[in-house]
Amino acid sequence: MNTHESGRSGHDKGPPYRGGCLCGAVRYEVGTVIDRASHCHCSMCRKAHGAAFATYATVPAEHFRITQGADSLRSYVSSPGNTRTFCMHCGSPITWVSEHAPDQGSVDVTLGTLETAVQVPQQWHIFVASKAPWYVIDDGLPQWPQRRPRGTARPGTGEPS
Ligand SMILES: [Zn+2]
Ligand SMILES: [Zn+2]
Repeated sequence: MNTHESGRSGHDKGPPYRGGCLCGAVRYEVGTVIDRASHCHCSMCRKAHGAAFATYATVPAEHFRITQGADSLRSYVSSPGNTRTFCMHCGSPITWVSEHAPDQGSVDVTLGTLETAVQVPQQWHIFVASKAPWYVIDDGLPQWPQRRPRGTARPGTGEPS
């Protein structure tokens, strides 16, 4: 099947959520609620995604599982302690894992590769000091010049205000 819409997408019936790369070789599962997303404007994410910014859902590592095509995943250490994974066939970025993340033991999953139509209540922009000059952020979400400061958000708290 190679239609524009794979037919795998659907509405949010709760976890597990499924996603995968563009060519379909790599597939994954998220076994928990996705309640937060970071829109990262750093120059490395912009290059890695070829886009104005990269959007990640931060989930506990134990709830992220590659279900197919682990041998097609390649990784790239884009800066010390920060590893990106992507499909070796189609180039879709799949995860970003950092030793410096505010949420230790978490995996940042590229939200654009998720196929379930989830709602994500907490979202924010990070590394906006490095954002593309031609992109204007006008969605009213919280912004930080660099990484999100520790303790600024927790699931269910509604923070940051
Ligand atoms: Zn692929
Ligand atoms: Zn980034």
